[in-house]
Amino acid sequence: MSDAATTRDGTKAVWAGEDQHDFWQRATQVPVVHSVAFGYADVDQWLAVATGREPGHIYGRNTNPTVAVFEDKVRQLEKAEAATSFSTGMAAISNTLLTLLRPGDRVVSVKDTYGGTNKIFTEFLPRWQVEVVLCDTTDHAAIEAEVAKGAAVLYLETPTNPTLKVLDLQRLAAAGRAAGATVVADNTFATPINCNPLALGVDLVLHSATKFLGGHADALGGVVCGSKALVERIYHYREINGATLDPMSAYLLLRGMKTLHLRVRQQNQNALTIARFLAAHPAVERVFYPGLESDPGHAVARRQMRGFGGVLSFALRGGFEGVKAFLPALRLAHRAANLGSVETVAGPPATTSHVECTLQERQAMGIPEALVRYSAGIEDPEDLIADLTQALAVAGGAA
Ligand SMILES: *Cc1c(COP(=O)(O)O)cnc(C)c1O
Repeated sequence: MSDAATTRDGTKAVWAGEDQHDFWQRATQVPVVHSVAFGYADVDQWLAVATGREPGHIYGRNTNPTVAVFEDKVRQLEKAEAATSFSTGMAAISNTLLTLLRPGDRVVSVKDTYGGTNKIFTEFLPRWQVEVVLCDTTDHAAIEAEVAKGAAVLYLETPTNPTLKVLDLQRLAAAGRAAGATVVADNTFATPINCNPLALGVDLVLHSATKFLGGHADALGGVVCGSKALVERIYHYREINGATLDPMSAYLLLRGMKTLHLRVRQQNQNALTIARFLAAHPAVERVFYPGLESDPGHAVARRQMRGFGGVLSFALRGGFEGVKAFLPALRLAHRAANLGSVETVAGPPATTSHVECTLQERQAMGIPEALVRYSAGIEDPEDLIADLTQALAVAGGAA
C-alpha cells in the first residue's frame, strides 16, 4: 500500500508496509528473516547496497526485512517521512537523545516523564555535561519561558504516566521551534490511532512499541518517526550503538499492530466508562483521566486527540494499605508493570512506571501513594466494572 493511498488508520494498521517487499515463496504474511547476514556474489552490487545506492540488506544490526516492514507500518500510521526501530522503548528514547545532544547543550522537559526517561534526565545526561531543566508538567508558560532561554531539545510526553496530565503539543511545539529546539514527543500512551504529534508541529515522535503497538505483552520494541534527515542521524547512532530490534519481536509487534485500531477503540471506550464509574465511587478519592469533563487536561485532549486512551489512574481513600487489599482482589487484571495489552493490567506506580524513584521523588512529582494505574484491556466493560466493584468492596472493608 503506497503512502499516497487515501486510506484510514484501520486500513493502514492492516496493510501498511505489507506489500512493499519481496516475500519468500509468495507468502502472504511477513516472513521472520532470522538471517544475520545477506549475501552478494557480485561485489559491485554488494557495494551498491552497502553504500545505500541500491535497496537491500547487509547485516542484521543495521537493517532486516522483517524489521523494515514494522518500521514502515508505524511510519505510515504516524504519517511520517521516515522511521527507525529499537530493541526497547527506552532504547528509542536514549538513542534519540544521544544523537541530538552534545556537552554544553540544554534540554527542557517536564517532571512527569516516564520513570526511565526521568532517570536519563537526572542521572545520565548531567554526566555528559548536558543541562536538563524539568518544568512543572502543567505549567505551559514556564515550559515556554525555559525553552525561550535556549534549548537543543524540548522533550514532551502526553498523556503522562501515571497521572495522565495532558500537554498542549501544538502550543509547545511552536515554542520549541521558535527557539530552534528539536521537539520530541513520546506518544506511547496516546498511540497513533488517538494522536499524531507530527501533525501538531513536533519534529520526532517516539513509542515504546512494547505497549499498545504490540498490544499483547509478548515483545519489547521501540520506534522513532520524523523527517528523513533527523531519522537517518538517529538510525546511524543506533546501528553503531547496536540497540537493534530483533526480527522475531518485529514480527510479533507487526501481528499485534494489525488490530491496533480495533483494540485502541475498545480500550478508549472501556477506560472512559471505567473512569466515569470510579469518579462516582465512594471508595475512590480521585480519578485521573483526560476523558472526564472535569479533568484539567480535557479541553486540550479534546483538541489534539481522537480518543482519550486506554490508561487511567485513581487514588483510593484507603491509602497504600487500601491498594494492597484492592490489587489482590481483582480477578480480571494482571498485577504487573506493563500497559497497553489486550488484558487489563493494574499496579501502583511504586512498582510500575516509577519503580526507579524513591518515595520522596514520587511525592515531589505529585504521585499519590494510594494511586493505582489501570490499563484497560479489550474485555467487556460490564465485566471490568463488576470486577472493580467487588475489589473496591474488599479494599473498603480493609481500610
Ligand atoms: C514503557 C514506556 C517506555 C519505555 O519502554 P520500554 O519498551 O519498556 O523500554 C517509555 N515511555 C512510556 C510512556 C512508557 O510507557
